[in-house]
Order: sequence, then structure tokens, then C-alpha cells
Amino acid sequence: MTAFWTEADFDHHEMVHFVDDRKSGLKAIIALHSTHCGPGAGGTRFWHYPEPAGAMRDALRLSRGMSYKNAMAGLPMGGGKAVVLLQEGQRQTLEMLAAFGEAVESLGGRYVTAEDVGASVADMVTISHHTQHVCGLPAQEGAAGGDPGPYTAYGIYLGIKAAVQHKLGTDSMKDVRLSLQGCGSVGGGVARLAAADGAKLTLADINEAKAAALAQELGGETAPVDAIMGMECDVFSPNALGAILDTDGIAKLDCAIVAGGANNQLKRPEHGALLAARDILYAPDYVINGGGIINVALEYLARRDGQTCSSEEVRERIGMIPERLRSIWHESEESGQSADIVADQMARKLIGRG
Ligand code: NAD
Repeated sequence: MTAFWTEADFDHHEMVHFVDDRKSGLKAIIALHSTHCGPGAGGTRFWHYPEPAGAMRDALRLSRGMSYKNAMAGLPMGGGKAVVLLQEGQRQTLEMLAAFGEAVESLGGRYVTAEDVGASVADMVTISHHTQHVCGLPAQEGAAGGDPGPYTAYGIYLGIKAAVQHKLGTDSMKDVRLSLQGCGSVGGGVARLAAADGAKLTLADINEAKAAALAQELGGETAPVDAIMGMECDVFSPNALGAILDTDGIAKLDCAIVAGGANNQLKRPEHGALLAARDILYAPDYVINGGGIINVALEYLARRDGQTCSSEEVRERIGMIPERLRSIWHESEESGQSADIVADQMARKLIGRG
């Protein structure tokens, strides 16, 4: 067996916690990358991994991404992430959620969990019966918290508008051609905001009925999932799963901008330079998709400190994402380094690893 510390994705993670609860059948990995800025916060992904190594890779990469994301969002939170390994076709049970909550509680607040792919607000509520270190719980009207998806979509949409302004020199989204990969909570939210501003949408989802229903509702078109990356457009917005920007994927792109919410879009670091070489403006994923964690982190911090935080305050904080992106693009243009590298350097400085 290869030593864990030599794993390609291992980046001096402070802790990796394995959970194997035989009673409920829960198998999970909780990875804490850095607690330099505060407790490691990041969602829990429920997924079927054909190989357990894939789960480890996700936990390591996604928790590092959360360190960077939380730091770049200006939150007093570090980076963590959990993955729950499901069998093919299996759905998490109440017993598994309870065991998972107990595992989070046992870490004493070093890790704060939230929703991610495969989880629901109801799952977070179940987990909250077993740990206080959870965010993304149902929100009161007008208060922070609840489903992070719409807040993530809002931040991504602001980021897309900033990218369009920066690259195409226009403040208007009217007739901007936007291709969306993934029409779930985030992609669907981005599509709705963009359609309201007159953008022209092309939508793809492995759930074809979902893409078709959204296209009908918003007046866009659909494309096959294997064709969406090659569609001629102004903005390609990946909102499904990660690692899609590899050599083949980037060669297919026919767009001016890549800006979307999927985590870890670049398969390897060198793929950021490949995008830049093709003169495609890239919005680093963990900067543009910080809206959801901003919402739930502010909810968690307010509850922990016996205070409240309004959704208006959350939206104001999300409104700072475009400024962060512009500072990355300007620095990238000045230094000649690709946007992802510039963002990583900024983030590493913020977590004391510059
Ligand atoms: P979701 O499960 O609601 O939606 C994902 C959608 O992508 C689904 O409709 C699914 O059918 C579709 N999909 C999966 N594989 C696909 C493929 N190969 N091609 C096209 N469509 C495909 O998840 P979500 O909450 O919308 O999250 C989407 C992405 O954004 C994930 O990578 C997630 O990690 C990231 N993200 C989400 C949030 C959030 O607040 N929900 C925050 C930050 C990042």
C-alpha cells in the first residue's frame, strides 16, 4: 500500500478521519486541510465511488479547496470536507446520518459540516440532532441559512457578469450566449438569473428531462451532455461535477469565458495555463462558488455566538465575489500567471502557507 503522506493530493492536511460504523453501515472520510483561519468548514458529499481511492482523492482535494474558498471569501473558517461512501443505488439512511453526526460531534467543533452533492436540508436537520457543528439548517424568513444552492447560484451569476464585463466589455447580459453543464440546484439557479437578464441559454444535464423542462420554462435550448462543452458560446458554465477541464475538454471549448460552480474543475494544475493559452478567461471555481458557504458559515457563526444574520447581510458579502475575481484577473494580466495560480497564491497567503 502506498504511504498516505505521498498521495498526490495530500497537502499537509491537518487530519484525515475515517469512520466505519458497522451498525449503520456508514463509511465516511472527514478531511481537515487547515484550521488556520478557524474551524474547518465544508459540505458532506454522499456518493457512490467505484474505487475507495476516488473517495480519498475527493476528500483531500475538496477540503483543500474549502481552505482556499473560505479564505478567499473572507470567512473566519478553515477548510474541511467529508465524503460518505454509498453502494451503487444506495441512499443514506437515518441511522447513517445519526452515526455521521456523532462522528462530526466527536471532533469537538474542529470540523463544521454542511450540504453538498447528494445531501438535502432534511439530512442536515437529522445530522443536527447529533451534533451542533452543522450549518445549512432551515432558515427563518429573511435570515441566513437554509439551502445554500440559491446563494451559490447568485454568487456565480455575479461572477459571470463580472467576467463578461472584463472580457467582453459589456455590462449587459442581453443576448450573451451561456452554455450550462448541469441543471441542478446551482446550474438551475444560474440559468434563472441569466434568463431574467436576457441571456441566451443552452442547457445540458444527464437528466435530460430536467434540462428540457428548464429550457421550456426559461426559453432556452438543450444540448446532449457529450456536446455541451463544445458549443459555440460566450460563457461555458460547469455546474455538475469536477475535473472536466482536462486537455481534451479544453481543446473542445469554443467560448471566451469559463465560469461556473462545480468544485475542482481543473483536472490538473497545468490545465489552468492551457485555458490561458487559449485566451479563455477563467473564474477560479472556489472563488466564484463561495456564495453557499458564505450563507451557511454566517448562519453557523451567528447561531454559535447567540446572534442572528439576515439574508441581506449574506447577499452583501456575496456581492464582494466580483471584486475578488477582478483582483485575480488583474494580477494574472500583470504577472502573466494563469488565474488559478494567482488565486492559489492569494489563498495560500491567507491560510499562512504563502
Ligand atoms: P445538484 O445535484 O443539485 O445538481 C447537479 C446536476 O448535475 C444534476 O442535475 C445532475 O443530473 C447533473 N449532472 C451530473 N453529471 C453530469 C454531467 N456529466 N453532465 C451534465 N449534467 C450532469 O448539485 P448542485 O448543488 O447544483 O452542485 C453542482 C456543483 O456545484 C457540484 O460540483 C457542487 O460540488 C458544486 N457546488 C455546489 C454548491 C451548493 O451550494 N449547492 C456550492 C459550491 C459548489
